[in-house]
Amino acid sequence: MTASMPRTDCEVAVIGAGPFGLSVAAALKAARVETLALGGAMSFWRDHMPRGMRLRSPWHATYIGHTNGPLSLDSYAGILGISPREPLLLENFVDYGLWIQAKTVPDLDTRMVSRVEAANGGFRLALADGDAVHVRRVVIATGLMNQQMIPAVFNGLPGELVSHASEHAGYEAFRGKRVAVVGRGQSACESAVLLKRSGADVELVCHGDIHWLGYRALSGKQGWSLRDFASERLASPSRVGPFPLSWLVEVPGFVHRFPEAARAGLNKRSLGAGASGWLKPDFDGIRVNAGSRIAGAAAKGHAIELRFEKDAATFDHVLLGTGYQIDIARLGLFAPDMLAAIARREGAPVLSAGFESSIPGLHFVGASAVGSFGPLMRFTAGTPYAARNVTRFVRKAGGRGYATGRN
Ligand SMILES: Cc1cc2nc3c(=O)[nH]c(=O)nc-3n(C[C@H](O)[C@H](O)[C@H](O)COP(=O)(O)OP(=O)(O)OC[C@H]3O[C@@H](n4cnc5c(N)ncnc54)[C@H](O)[C@@H]3O)c2cc1C
Repeated sequence: MTASMPRTDCEVAVIGAGPFGLSVAAALKAARVETLALGGAMSFWRDHMPRGMRLRSPWHATYIGHTNGPLSLDSYAGILGISPREPLLLENFVDYGLWIQAKTVPDLDTRMVSRVEAANGGFRLALADGDAVHVRRVVIATGLMNQQMIPAVFNGLPGELVSHASEHAGYEAFRGKRVAVVGRGQSACESAVLLKRSGADVELVCHGDIHWLGYRALSGKQGWSLRDFASERLASPSRVGPFPLSWLVEVPGFVHRFPEAARAGLNKRSLGAGASGWLKPDFDGIRVNAGSRIAGAAAKGHAIELRFEKDAATFDHVLLGTGYQIDIARLGLFAPDMLAAIARREGAPVLSAGFESSIPGLHFVGASAVGSFGPLMRFTAGTPYAARNVTRFVRKAGGRGYATGRN
């Protein structure tokens, strides 16, 4: 077989095997849709997040497609013997994902996809090893891969001096180093804590005060104000966004019908930078330089100098906890003509029912779907909805090799 010939024909390919990809692939398979799932299982969580990290999402809203039953996190926790009282450890979540993969998508093809192009009324996927696959539909579930946000002041500086948090699976190499962490969201704050724990001297540099999430962040407070009561007792299951908007976030199908401006407002209000209150006690010993804008950055020998409006400081390394911004052009999967045919808003695909883009048969789930289905799609809590919705759509659209309900 040559590199240009399709290896096999298949109805649907799901690209990416993180929580969204696994959930969608599992649901399609359960509905007897011929499905090929591609990508390393849980590889973003395993290779691009720091060991020792704990999940920000509450245990009861951390799903890989299953909210309850034998494949739920609770069920796996019973097997592992871990307690839902503690925020979930990254390593345990990765194990859970691998377990889900083995149970629901055992035939995962771990190869990377390098190109998706339209062909013969469907799609041709070029795989990194030179093989190719023809499919009728594609679900892009590549998560935050290649979507890192790097402030322009750091352009051109070498990786030894500046790196994005996603470039690290642990911080042991920073023992004894002076590290500036830029940002004030969960990733920046948790990285600062883990760096300190690894023996680094840490300063957090951010635009404004850290927004600690959750009642316990207001530590020392014993009583309940009406606001505390509302934010804690009336919190939505996933706790994404401020109360009461958080309850709207829970219904992505409804959010999808919002006028664009209203949905953009909901996304902005719900996905602002914030860090879990349980991190706060670990901030002892971390200097916080809030309210400082970084005006410039320059290499100074083996160190890096950050210039602020009024002064400057030198560090051995700058770690960017500056988050991610969706721009599907940066996925590197589509040729320019195909990219031009995908309707986009600020880099994200505009999706209709079934998470389908303006190219029929090309779907996007996960963070790329936030612009169309709202903030829940940024979290694992969105996986059951996405999996159900895509599967229902694909079955309704019909196709060969699977039950449509009519045959
Ligand atoms: C530091 C950090 C902490 C987070 N904490 C939480 C949390 O506590 N709770 C929560 O719900 N969410 C959290 N998130 C958000 C999290 O990224 C999403 O919830 C979740 O990972 C989305 O799943 P996904 O399947 O869309 O993407 P991912 O988990 O990123 O998976 C994408 C997969 O696609 C694969 N892939 C990418 N490109 C290709 C390709 N070309 N070919 C084949 N495969 C490919 C990758 O290998 C990867 O396995 C966090 C994110 C970060 C960065």
